[in-house]
Amino acid sequence: MAAKEISNGSSENHLKIPKIKFTKLFINGDFVDAVSGKTFETIDPRTGEVTTKIAEGDREDVDLAVKAAREAFDHGKWPRMPGCERGKIMMKYADLIEENAEELAALDTIDAGKLYSLGKVADIPTTANTFRYYAGAADKIHGETLKMSRELQGYTLREPIGVVGHITPWNFPSVMFAMKVAPALAAGCTMVVKPAEQTPLSTLFYAYLSKLAGIPDGVLNVVTGFGPTAGAAITSHMDIDKVSFTGSTEVGRLVMQAAATSNLKPVSLELGGKSPLIIFNDADLDMAVNLAFMGILYNKGEICVAGSRVYVQEGIYDEFVKKAAEKAKTWVVGDPFDPRSQQGPQADKQQFKKILSYIEHGKTEGATLLTGGKAWGEKGYYIEPTIFTDVKEDMKIARDEIFGPVMSLMKFKTMDEAIQRANSTRYGLAAGIVTKDLNVANTVSRSIRAGIIWINCYLAFDKDCPYGGYKMSGFGRDSGLHSLEKYLQIKSVVTPIYNSPWL
Ligand code: NAD
Repeated sequence: MAAKEISNGSSENHLKIPKIKFTKLFINGDFVDAVSGKTFETIDPRTGEVTTKIAEGDREDVDLAVKAAREAFDHGKWPRMPGCERGKIMMKYADLIEENAEELAALDTIDAGKLYSLGKVADIPTTANTFRYYAGAADKIHGETLKMSRELQGYTLREPIGVVGHITPWNFPSVMFAMKVAPALAAGCTMVVKPAEQTPLSTLFYAYLSKLAGIPDGVLNVVTGFGPTAGAAITSHMDIDKVSFTGSTEVGRLVMQAAATSNLKPVSLELGGKSPLIIFNDADLDMAVNLAFMGILYNKGEICVAGSRVYVQEGIYDEFVKKAAEKAKTWVVGDPFDPRSQQGPQADKQQFKKILSYIEHGKTEGATLLTGGKAWGEKGYYIEPTIFTDVKEDMKIARDEIFGPVMSLMKFKTMDEAIQRANSTRYGLAAGIVTKDLNVANTVSRSIRAGIIWINCYLAFDKDCPYGGYKMSGFGRDSGLHSLEKYLQIKSVVTPIYNSPWL
């Protein structure tokens, strides 16, 4: 791997930033320039400097990618091959991803500011294992025999839905790619992927690896570019059969509108959140503080399920605040390539500025700043871990998704009050409960309207565990076998039984 040496301040950890190999659109098995010849810059959030220029796809490029995907779906071998053959190719794909884990993790670090050490042991292995999980499912997709009420024989086929448009956000470029592409491939679909404009690098590398793995040309196409142009061309395309979107609630609404006014394609939307973490008096306090930190600071708060509203019961509230303030002092913000760093830079300048403006809102609305509250360092998009106390439900910082390292701490008295306040949000993606009381855990988990509930843990994701939104956090589930359903449709086949009056 051609590489440039950088020092991250630790002599034993000089790391290599990969030379960027793929910057063009990937259509029908080839890397090509955009029809317009235009490019856009991808920026390193550690410095604010340009990493490289990427082909800027637009409507005409999406048309070409859809044409290739359509041809591969209507006439190609991928949807027609035995599921075990698709599974075999996907297993090979997973192996190739694992073999390139360091380079892929580094690409996500320079694009999204993600911790390199975590990328190597978490994001990239999860990406590879997600392909393995769905590879194993590819030959187990079958319908049912129907119990008909008349002299008819009926059964269902579960068929691939067709050409899929996947639109992904910038916070987990690798994991999001796998969570969308792997089940769609297993189902036998063909697709066009548009990664977020902030983080195109790893997706283009995955496109290259797909070819090496033996995924036929046209099955997996990547169009890099902006949301209102390339993204909108996908959502309104008459020849795309399904859109799977992860991103903001605001854009989710546009995706639905575009589907409604084009070919009525089904959409699934994984959107924003403002998830509560409820800590009861009987909680192990150290564990609770650790979970609260992980809930809001993992991936610098740029995670849809961030536990951004932390409700602490009054009996332990003061002690919790004290311990949280102490822990914040030991929290290490720094270069995401440095293994000592616990928090890297926010993904881009826009996000950085948005978070700082929310922090200002918190101050002016009357919340008390316990820790942090400003940018960190001389360059790049780093923000100090920020904790507000005395937060009221109607404050902007308690209502809006900030998508950054900003925790709102609130005190509650009773379980019923906690449930009512936890549900007082337009979102419903996740929730956490910390208690030793099984009755409390069971009651609260059944009362919160959210797609995933973590009891005495947080961010406990697994490939087999579906998650997704209630309310304005969207609909459809990623992960788990449920996710396959998004890429399949059911066809009923009915025939009269021999000698029945139907003949
Ligand atoms: P975003 O909605 O701005 O962008 C997401 C994707 O949509 C990008 O690829 C973007 O280019 C594209 N896009 C933008 N405008 C579009 C348009 N008009 N038509 C089609 N596509 C368009 O979101 P973001 O800022 O990249 O990501 C952060 C958001 O994503 C947060 O709200 C977060 O909660 C959410 N998110 C949700 C999940 C989940 O699983 N629920 C996971 C990660 C992120």
